[in-house]
Amino acid sequence: MAAAAGAEKVVAELRERCATPASLLLDVASAMAVEMGAGLEKEGGSRVKMLLSFVDKLPTGREEGLFYGLDLGGTNFRVLKVHLGGSKKHVVSCESREVTIPPHLMSGTSSELFGFIAGELGKFVAEEEGANMSNGKKRELGFTFSFPVRQRSVASGTLVKWTKAFSIDDAVGEDVVAELQTAMGKQGLDMHVAALINDAVGTLAGARYYDEDVVAGVIFGTGTNAAYVEKANAIPKWEGELPHWGDMVINMEWGNFYSSHLPIYEKLTSGMYLGEIVRRVLLKLSLQSGIFGAIDNSKLKTHFHLRTPHISAMHHDETPDLKIVAEKLHQTLEITDTSLETRKMVVEICDIVAKRAARLAAAGVAGILMKLGRNGCVDKQRSVIAIDGGLFEHYTKFRECLESTLGELLGEEASKSVVVKHANDGSGIGAALIAASQSQ
Ligand code: ADP
Ligand code: MG
Repeated sequence: MAAAAGAEKVVAELRERCATPASLLLDVASAMAVEMGAGLEKEGGSRVKMLLSFVDKLPTGREEGLFYGLDLGGTNFRVLKVHLGGSKKHVVSCESREVTIPPHLMSGTSSELFGFIAGELGKFVAEEEGANMSNGKKRELGFTFSFPVRQRSVASGTLVKWTKAFSIDDAVGEDVVAELQTAMGKQGLDMHVAALINDAVGTLAGARYYDEDVVAGVIFGTGTNAAYVEKANAIPKWEGELPHWGDMVINMEWGNFYSSHLPIYEKLTSGMYLGEIVRRVLLKLSLQSGIFGAIDNSKLKTHFHLRTPHISAMHHDETPDLKIVAEKLHQTLEITDTSLETRKMVVEICDIVAKRAARLAAAGVAGILMKLGRNGCVDKQRSVIAIDGGLFEHYTKFRECLESTLGELLGEEASKSVVVKHANDGSGIGAALIAASQSQ
């Protein structure tokens, strides 16, 4: 009984500290909008970097021809070819292939890595086109590169640093587009890199191709990020020529957003961390209440041992005796013989952590709408937010909570003109679509 009371105390404290009443979320949304403005004002003006993507033409749906995309962001890369048939036919066909990067190339030299990529791309092009070569027209490629780069134009960008499993020292500070272009040249591959983008920009472009009311692309996957369309005259830090259509896509890099109302945004809202937060709570529960019995806590003490897909599976467990929760606790954390009450408590912990994430995610989206002046009922102008990423796609309760919270924050009237859409595979096809819009 003492264990149960001690455990309930831990959960009650968590519940209280993770509470996200609408008033707090509205403060977070306003703070996001303010930081966006500060980041646009001057370089380094905010922790939200607000990087210029130099994408000033988004796809309209009227593009025609064959275009290529290359998506590099993890242990695999993808190459794809789309055939665009103009405003009536749209995407006539889309072929793609995924290639695993040999681990030794992830820490070798830049020319080895890009040589490998160009080689695979060349094979894909040869097989796809067969004898039908591109009748003298240069092939256009969009390149999605999900690592931090500093861009000065739409088709160039120097690598700031590698993340994830990569560490190729001689590529840092180099223009990744030039590296790719050189590697393709060596292979005799006649292809032009028309744009360098990241997955958030790709998601925006991929959705915009079908719907001109799309104003932002947002990722909730391993990490989180957002890109949106801003008016050129709202970007004081931009010194170049005014863009084509008076708009520019901004790559927010909002993961580092932080305000007096909360710690770093990405750590509370992305797939990399949600499982880890729950693990820490369960460890505290174990140490302070002994509710799991006399268990060996070594798995519970291992950082990142509990992953977000595990907590998602437990959270969605609909079996009457919470069989899946019991299984996950056993398999991943070596916690056995839990009572139904204890398993319910674990589900509640997942619920508290995932709901806070989803509600803060909604506040971020509301911040973008505020910045654009689209959070009220102005002219019933429709605003579509395209969202992608494994967390949003697979964690149903996260997604449902994000959508309902956005409604709560905007109010009934304004909600009618805001649509959240799942945009699938922006990082792949989005790049090819931007290559198309840039070259036409
Ligand atoms: P990335 O952000 O690395 O490009 P994805 O968009 O595919 O990758 O998202 C992968 C992330 O999505 C994983 O790190 C994980 O946190 C989360 N995820 C994947 N599957 C699930 C799932 N079934 N339930 C909850 N989260 C999931
Ligand atoms: Mg991705």
